[in-house]
Amino acid sequence: MQFSPKRVLSIIFLTIIISQLTAQKSSQLFVPKKDSVNIYREMLNDRSDDLMENHPADDIYNNIWTADRLNPYKIPIDSLPDSVYVDCAGYKVPVPGIITSNFGPRRYRYHYGTDLKLNIGDSVRNSFDGKIRIIDYEARGYGHYVVVRHDNGLETVYAHLSQVLVSLDQVVKAGEVIALGGNTGRSTGPHLHYEIRYLGNAIDPASIVNFHSGIPHNNIYLITKKKSFYYQRAVKTQQAAKYYTVRSGDNLGKIAARHGTSINAICRLNGIKQNKTLRVGQKLRVR
Ligand SMILES: [Zn+2]
Repeated sequence: MQFSPKRVLSIIFLTIIISQLTAQKSSQLFVPKKDSVNIYREMLNDRSDDLMENHPADDIYNNIWTADRLNPYKIPIDSLPDSVYVDCAGYKVPVPGIITSNFGPRRYRYHYGTDLKLNIGDSVRNSFDGKIRIIDYEARGYGHYVVVRHDNGLETVYAHLSQVLVSLDQVVKAGEVIALGGNTGRSTGPHLHYEIRYLGNAIDPASIVNFHSGIPHNNIYLITKKKSFYYQRAVKTQQAAKYYTVRSGDNLGKIAARHGTSINAICRLNGIKQNKTLRVGQKLRVR
């Protein structure tokens, strides 16, 4: 069989086109379906952790830069500096600011962020200049999420995303679109769960930003132990809380006796009256 020069050329041309198409497909973002170790890290960042590399706010974070955990610092509140000034000028709000749930206590667990309304596929923007530290997936928590370390020392978390548009260690600007909003993980409707943290400790985002205007309250934000982390006491109380599921034949007296408490105390904790009829399966806080 003989090939004319023209035929050989067209075969080479076709081969190039096919190889380019294949390359394009394999570089698309891989979206894992299951809980796993940080699969993105293995795929996108197989370099060994290089401490000499310049990561934002290294002096504050003591050169800790890892994609494995949201809070690898584990710094107790008492060991934080009494007050720190953070430069918040240039802030960009992640999505237009319609708050659907505030930072604060929830019935069974503390809510460490602000929930913002969005539609699936809406752009999610990075808040300050920085670098992508974590891209991961938690089926029973954040869903698809991104953590950014910022040059000003803060870190932000963007959760329940439908798609991530950045890669690990990527340098990002304030206002840059880093992901698309979604409803992944523990989420009952499309929204962005948004956190602002300092050295791993969450701060109420609404204390820094006016979400309605999208502008920070002050260009310089003063973090103080008392003002920014007061809520940790409430978290401790909540963690100490204990719940009991009402069974058939129970009454408040029996439940109180079984848990070494009083009917009055249970009524106070649950905001109910002593003559309240109990339902089987109802959860009561007993401590
Ligand atoms: Zn939330």
